[in-house]
Amino acid sequence: MADQAPSQAPTDSAILPTYARAPVAFERGDGAWLTATDGTRYLDFGAGIAVCCLGHGHPHLVNALTEQAQKLWHVSNLFQIPQAERLAKRLVEKTFADYVFFTNSGAEALEGAIKTARKYHAASGHPEKFHLITFEGAFHGRTLATIAAGGNPKYIEGFGPKVQGFDQAPWGDLEAVKALIGPQTAGVLVEPIQGEGGVRLPPAGFLRGLRDLCDQYGLLLVMDEVQSGVGRTGKFFAHEIYGVTPDIMSIAKGIGGGFPLGAFLATREAGKGMVVGTHGTTYGGNPLATACGNAVLDVILEDGFLERVAHTGLLMKQRLAQLQDAHPRVIAEVRGEGLFLGIRLHTPNGEFAVAAREEQMLVIPALDNVVRLLPPLIIGETEIDEAMERLDRACVRVERTLAASDKVAS
Ligand SMILES: *Cc1c(COP(=O)(O)O)cnc(C)c1O
Repeated sequence: MADQAPSQAPTDSAILPTYARAPVAFERGDGAWLTATDGTRYLDFGAGIAVCCLGHGHPHLVNALTEQAQKLWHVSNLFQIPQAERLAKRLVEKTFADYVFFTNSGAEALEGAIKTARKYHAASGHPEKFHLITFEGAFHGRTLATIAAGGNPKYIEGFGPKVQGFDQAPWGDLEAVKALIGPQTAGVLVEPIQGEGGVRLPPAGFLRGLRDLCDQYGLLLVMDEVQSGVGRTGKFFAHEIYGVTPDIMSIAKGIGGGFPLGAFLATREAGKGMVVGTHGTTYGGNPLATACGNAVLDVILEDGFLERVAHTGLLMKQRLAQLQDAHPRVIAEVRGEGLFLGIRLHTPNGEFAVAAREEQMLVIPALDNVVRLLPPLIIGETEIDEAMERLDRACVRVERTLAASDKVAS
């Protein structure tokens, strides 16, 4: 099969060219494996950017989706939706939250979370408090408000006036956060572990410090767990690792297991402004999406599943440390929690991702010259062994280009 012509990127695509896509298309998936249209099999350690948490074609998810698809897809939020009620109850039981609002994506979950934080203060008689403190390297989505929250100039420029109300502090800098708190501050918006920013872990005491500042100044702590949540770190949500609880939280990616689904969660107090008519969505939380969400939770919340993710993550991290020892000119650092892992490189991360792809393994570049490893949470030692062999060969490829440029230089 590998002797067939490799997948080609269409040169006449009618899709708006906002992505520099790799020249490969996939036809089917099974667990952590993807099969391209030319028959080549790839080990998928990207999982559709931390989305396919149960891998591809998980029988329980496929069953849940097809069963619901036979019955009913969509009814709108003008009616009761038992599948959504059940999923919300389960999320509330397992978290700090009292309420859930379902969305179709991460950015919408953030929009809702931001609106909820602002509305809380308006409902408390302080409509002037609408600013959220955010962090350098953050990513919160691509809507007008979430690009302003993320603060990356590349995403903001040319799209008109930046949405007001986001003040940015350096990552991990509690003093800077304190200095930004003013009469307009509504809260702090933070990813407990930055994803697009390069799998950047919070410095010791940082999240606890944010919680304390929020409590001291009457602010809301909003956590964006769109990437870090739903078992990715070996905990249901990453903030559990740090023993720090938010007032509002956005989730998405893993919760649908590949079906577009997101949500924001809030405590009763933080959600007090969000009464009838204040917010809405046509699709959000429809029967098909929430049937998938429930199926994801059936597996993630099974006894021992999260412990297994944590264990697999540790194993993977140990193996990656060995890889770093073997390839010190390529790998600068290995970091992360559970199966939310990053390799910081000495060499360009884009080149490394291509080298890995040439070894039939998918990884995902991030800021800080990192490639992310976000495998399906169901992987075991077989996939880890495969991954390590492929990553080792990718490192060798990169070293060969280094050796070639050494020669040119000397
Ligand atoms: C992916 C991501 C988002 C945006 O989610 P979309 O579904 O692409 O809108 C927001 N926040 C974080 C932390 C993310 O990783």
